Amino acid sequence: MSGVRVFKRGDTYFIEGMLNEDANMSAILAQNDPVLRLNFKGVKMINSLGLSSMIRFGEGLADRRVEFLELSPVIVDAVNIVPLIVGGQKKVSRIKSVIAPLTCKNKHPTLVTIQIKDLKFKNQILENPFSKCERCNEDMQLDGEGDPQDYFFFLTNSDD
Ligand SMILES: [Zn+2]
Repeated sequence: MSGVRVFKRGDTYFIEGMLNEDANMSAILAQNDPVLRLNFKGVKMINSLGLSSMIRFGEGLADRRVEFLELSPVIVDAVNIVPLIVGGQKKVSRIKSVIAPLTCKNKHPTLVTIQIKDLKFKNQILENPFSKCERCNEDMQLDGEGDPQDYFFFLTNSDD
């Protein structure tokens, strides 16, 4: 199974597939777009070599204007552990949206794009960010009963 695929559609680069030892992100760094828009919704897996590659990529971004869009759940998990992949904790505002895998009590699975700017915090506590299920109108929660506060940990992580 080959690794990552990168293509540009409109003004956005789409990164898809497995981020592994084949993940050469330097071709993106070589682009001179005034704002680098990077969509990660198609990333299914990241291994330790892919993570190393992403950390180098995050460092290579330096102070460029970058927007990380629709981070897939594996990338969200990775950012929560290693913010360096977006350039470090001080750069998490580069993350504009993420994909959340949700389900309701009737087990209707859905992938929802959450805009970070729409999230509301009260005293560092995230208010329920998820809308109702489109099929049955029940409350939605993270698939696997994950805590939204953990899923969006990268927003409140004060470590550098
Ligand atoms: Zn439902």
